[in-house]
Amino acid sequence: MVRSAGIPDAIHLEVGEPNVDTPAHIRQAAVEAIHGGYTRYTHNLGLLSLREAIVRFLNRRYGLDLEVGQIVVTSGAVTALAVSLLVLVEPGEEVLIPDPSWPDYEQKVLIQGAIPRRYELKPEYEFLPIISELEGLVTRKTKAILINSPGNPTGAVFDEGTIKEILAFASGHDLYVISDEVYDLIVFEGKHLCPMSYDDEGRVVSIFGVSKNYAMTGWRIGYAVAPVRIAKVMEKAIEPLISCASAISQKAAEAAYSGPQDFVEEMRKIYKDRRDRVFDIFTNAKVKAFKPKGTFYMLVDLSEAGLPPGEIALRLLEEEGVAVAPGNTFGPSCQRMIRISLATEDANLIEGTHRVCRFIERHRLH
Ligand code: PLP
Repeated sequence: MVRSAGIPDAIHLEVGEPNVDTPAHIRQAAVEAIHGGYTRYTHNLGLLSLREAIVRFLNRRYGLDLEVGQIVVTSGAVTALAVSLLVLVEPGEEVLIPDPSWPDYEQKVLIQGAIPRRYELKPEYEFLPIISELEGLVTRKTKAILINSPGNPTGAVFDEGTIKEILAFASGHDLYVISDEVYDLIVFEGKHLCPMSYDDEGRVVSIFGVSKNYAMTGWRIGYAVAPVRIAKVMEKAIEPLISCASAISQKAAEAAYSGPQDFVEEMRKIYKDRRDRVFDIFTNAKVKAFKPKGTFYMLVDLSEAGLPPGEIALRLLEEEGVAVAPGNTFGPSCQRMIRISLATEDANLIEGTHRVCRFIERHRLH
């Protein structure tokens, strides 16, 4: 049971989805799809018109040269990730996953019968992978490395040097790179760089989706972009798994990619503004928070509060009525942290942030 459910006026800073509706033109496209006959199965890889819109969008944005046969549309990025692991990794093989990271990665690797090996993302290295440490984790069984930029929960955004180092590392050990880029349009400084643009060897499978960027979490559309030889195997795997993503949602996603992008830009500004305000509150209260470069999450270090790690989030909920994501759900390195979400209405976010500060002050080890 969700613990915050028993506290009706709790402030929710734990939620991992935008707090606004899907833009009107996208909803309208879905209504038209229903009346226009998009009520049947589609191709396993998705509607051609959606895949063409995605190819146009990604090629323009990231300077890629993709073709339609590389796009594998699924029910949310969550399925694109699962299908990628299914076709690339055999049971018993190992996959490098970040610590901290979105909890689903570990579960997905385990469901696949494979073994997750965590590589640490440290605040002192801006939560970027440390290649020398990755080297120490590789065994004969290592098959792939999973990366996530912009990163949940760290908010880290990989620079060009990091991407090139990871690709060189993957090449040196003949690994696939599964690159989760679902927050690609939520970057505050600079721009997201897509690892596929640096891949000459066909070892990157990128994962994207409309959930976070276009406030479409409930529509369940995501996709993998893979070399054609891999996409062909994914196509076979999709039939017995989901057959295809919802036709109506696919038409909505098509409108998201081919229509105006004002919503994305507007939300990016809103998240950035919230990030700056919240970060200032934490800084003034001498609370250590990590300013994200992208996503709508912020990690906050609560190690100064003298509480057992497993209790922090629960005590915060009980004492201050603020629900947060406990750090330990993202991996052992985050035991003494919490993750708050900037996808929260302004007044609640600011009030919740003050309450977190008050909580730490009360429990601070002097
Ligand atoms: N990847 C990351 C890093 C996420 O945080 C999430 C959702 O929280 C997803 C993928 C899932 O996205 P989708 O809604 O497209 O399945």
